[in-house]
Amino acid sequence: MKVKVAILGCSGRMGRNLIQAAVEHEQIELVGGSVRATSSFVDFDLGELAGIGAIGQKTSTELSELLDADVFIDFTSIETTLENIKWCQENKKSLVIGTTGFTDEQVQIIENAGKGIPVILAPNTSVGVNLMFKLLEITAKAIGDYTDIEIFEAHHRFKKDAPSGTAVKMGQVIADTLGRDLNKCAVYGREGITEERDRETIGFATVRAGDIVGEHTAFFADLGERIEITHKASSRMTFALGAMRAAAWLSEADNGYYDMQDVLGLK
Ligand code: NAD
Repeated sequence: MKVKVAILGCSGRMGRNLIQAAVEHEQIELVGGSVRATSSFVDFDLGELAGIGAIGQKTSTELSELLDADVFIDFTSIETTLENIKWCQENKKSLVIGTTGFTDEQVQIIENAGKGIPVILAPNTSVGVNLMFKLLEITAKAIGDYTDIEIFEAHHRFKKDAPSGTAVKMGQVIADTLGRDLNKCAVYGREGITEERDRETIGFATVRAGDIVGEHTAFFADLGERIEITHKASSRMTFALGAMRAAAWLSEADNGYYDMQDVLGLK
């Protein structure tokens, strides 16, 4: 039987790709999508929104119109996602969260929601990126103690948060592997006289430009050689298809707080 899915924020950049991915995915049945009540896409055909032709389903402005769905996929904004979590808890609906930029306290709220519903927090739903997290763990274990570690990320001009959720997660994976506290060892951007680099730090650099879909590189640099681990996304469909895989997996999961590593069996 197919998994019934609703897409929250379906008129956004990701939302439109999610509609297309849901329609094309053999395990998924798209039952609806939400837009803001003030949106110019209220009561709009979901297929038209995604540019794939009419599919006979209209956008909704209230989550209560989407009760048919078993799994909700949320790529909206921090404030909206926090509201949506409450609603999913009250209505016992599973939730895949693709929204990024949550503070530690907000992540705690999401983690707590896992006591009552199945929930995935996935700041990056690409399969390749999640494989990269595994490669970072292996590399950090082998050479992280004596190399300079820097994380670079680039995204399109419209992205609201920085550094990206994926870059932060990369830092978190490396810091956890090395037994460091990311809150203490992260350095965000540099300017002026910065003195010699402290080996214990993990640096972050951010570029925002044009239509870059998403690029991430971790440098592990020694004197004489360096390793660079890079992921480049060239289409948002890669995130959308990963989100469908997460939704299908979550539909069979018990209540709990999960991430993409669970979905992909990389733990
Ligand atoms: P976007 O601004 O194009 O889309 C967000 C959409 O959510 C907008 O259409 C907005 O109107 C809608 N929205 C906000 N509040 C709403 C509400 N209350 N009801 C209905 N709709 C509402 O942004 P985007 O580029 O699509 O990204 C959305 C989020 O997903 C961001 O946090 C981004 O960082 C994240 N993202 C995650 C991944 C991933 O792999 N997890 C990939 C790309 C983007």
